[in-house]
Amino acid sequence: MLATATTPMNAYDVALENFDLAANALGLDDSIRAMIKYPERILSVSVPVRMDTGKIVRFEGYRVQHSTMRGPAKGGIRFHPNVTMDEVKALATWMTWKCAVVNIPYGGGKGGVTCNPKELSMGELERLTRRYASSILPIIGPEKDIPAPDVYTTPQIMAWIMDTYSMNKGYPVHGVVTGKPLPIGGSLGRNEATARGVFYTTMSSCEHLGIRLAGSRVVVQGFGNAGAIAAELFHGAGAKVLAVSDTSGCIFNENGLDIPAVVAYKGRTGRLEGFPEATRITPAELLALECEILVPAALENAITEENAHTIHARIVSEAANGPVTPEADRIFNSKGIFLIPDILCNAGGVTVSYF
Ligand code: NAD
Repeated sequence: MLATATTPMNAYDVALENFDLAANALGLDDSIRAMIKYPERILSVSVPVRMDTGKIVRFEGYRVQHSTMRGPAKGGIRFHPNVTMDEVKALATWMTWKCAVVNIPYGGGKGGVTCNPKELSMGELERLTRRYASSILPIIGPEKDIPAPDVYTTPQIMAWIMDTYSMNKGYPVHGVVTGKPLPIGGSLGRNEATARGVFYTTMSSCEHLGIRLAGSRVVVQGFGNAGAIAAELFHGAGAKVLAVSDTSGCIFNENGLDIPAVVAYKGRTGRLEGFPEATRITPAELLALECEILVPAALENAITEENAHTIHARIVSEAANGPVTPEADRIFNSKGIFLIPDILCNAGGVTVSYF
């Protein structure tokens, strides 16, 4: 849960509310609702891992296939301390809708392990990944369900999953995961694709609203794959990125941050905090900054009814999945804030994965 949200929200309740709102607006028949609302398959696994101390620690893992009606399930794997079954169900549900919105022949899936990868050594992370991959192996595969990176999972982790799957099959199966390193079949451009989709959808929204992107003020919450690369693309297009944040803190410069220097600093130190030529602000202050474009690119429920009234952006681009709750969305609507929904805004990653 983000520091700015005071009411704990269950992401799956939010996904079900999203569904009912859309189904009611479409006047969807009850029989169709019964077919497409709930996950098709839910797997919960126990992941015992030998730690470097010699002790075995047990982690909880999940894989959810929300729908395979339009094609194999597709969706990332998250390694994070807040992963729960309900969060994975919500993320799998959103994947079904995302693949349908961009009309690619995939269904929706998602997986996760409740763990803090920052506290694991490389060896522990590899053993955890391989054990989790073995546990979900019966339900994944190029024709069934294809995992990808998500929060705190990397191309290296995808390579371990592919290798574990291939060892069990007895031949290399490149199509079992996307987001792999290039030498083993990863796609050029996949690393930047999610952020590029965020950039393109925001650019189109600016055109629609008559806002000049060059010179616009941009604020980005979350500085990982989605957020950092989006910040670079906005900076490259002449926008002024006023503030960015990660778990170490939020940094602000009213004249615009030098984003390539921020990326280099984070690459060197692993954190944003301490970046020179910026002042430190709180997460609540970051979200409330006066700007044209606000990009929540961290986790779900960043903006709820508690803090939606503090937002002063013209456009909110949902780079993260589910960062704005339905109640906050209604407040945005009443304030004339233009929301680009996650299932369109961040669909660039899965689109390149498909190609
Ligand atoms: P990542 O692990 O690369 O980066 C996550 C970033 O968020 C890190 O910088 C972390 O420090 C920051 N963060 C975490 N908690 C935070 C908090 N409370 N406040 C501020 N920053 C915080 O993850 P990612 O792949 O960039 O994913 C971010 C979001 O984008 C997630 O919602 C994910 O589901 C969504 N997404 C990612 C992809 C993709 O291709 N990677 C595709 C679609 C959607």
